Amino acid sequence: MRSIIAGNWKMNGTLAGVAGYAASLKAADHNAALIVCPPFPLLPAFAAALAGSAIALGAQDCHAREAGAHTGDVAAPLLREIGAAYVILGHSERRADHGETNADIAGKVAAARAAGLIPIVCVGETESQRDAGEAAEIVRTQLRHSLPADFTGIVAYEPIWAIGTGRTPAIADITAMHAGIRADLTAQFGDAGGKIPILYGGSVKPDNAAAILALPEVGGALVGGASLKPADFLAIAAGAPSV
Ligand code: PEP
Repeated sequence: MRSIIAGNWKMNGTLAGVAGYAASLKAADHNAALIVCPPFPLLPAFAAALAGSAIALGAQDCHAREAGAHTGDVAAPLLREIGAAYVILGHSERRADHGETNADIAGKVAAARAAGLIPIVCVGETESQRDAGEAAEIVRTQLRHSLPADFTGIVAYEPIWAIGTGRTPAIADITAMHAGIRADLTAQFGDAGGKIPILYGGSVKPDNAAAILALPEVGGALVGGASLKPADFLAIAAGAPSV
């Protein structure tokens, strides 16, 4: 299976930047499946600019309800209608800034699936949890409670202390965590759990991407800061192993 390289623009980007970014991605040659996740208002422009290409579009959140009195939120069916195929859910910044719980995230995952979106569900520990030796248990709990019983989609392991810091776990620690997540997913979902792609996220850059993407059970990367420049995003995609 090709590596999945998803770019999380977070609250960055402008309408003026969409066409050039999309053109750079469309012109590039690589082995990866690319997903761009810009802020909500840029989704329609990106959908138009990426039309006819294999590059997919994702949102950064959705509400658990299909519609209703939820000021400022966006419903999954509308995201699907305007061209998103994926949605990032449970990012640590949403968990921290908006108090999202595992149960909230499970509700959003169900809504995303019902709308035909593929959820990319983020899990990961804080630095103090890692230092206390609790990382595996924290992640296991997040998986158990953020993923509904009929889950299909993608999981992203993102150690919170590695996000936007330029720090990454040791290669052995990424390997061990991804092996643990695979075991947890298989315990939770049986054979289907063996097929769920597990992305790594947290300070993936052009110079460390190939080493991380080559690891067993690393199905790709969720990229924040380095996804903002097409050259860096594509250099990361170029690190994907050939299949
Ligand atoms: C992220 O926010 O999902 C992320 C991985 O950010 P960065 O690549 O900037 O660490």
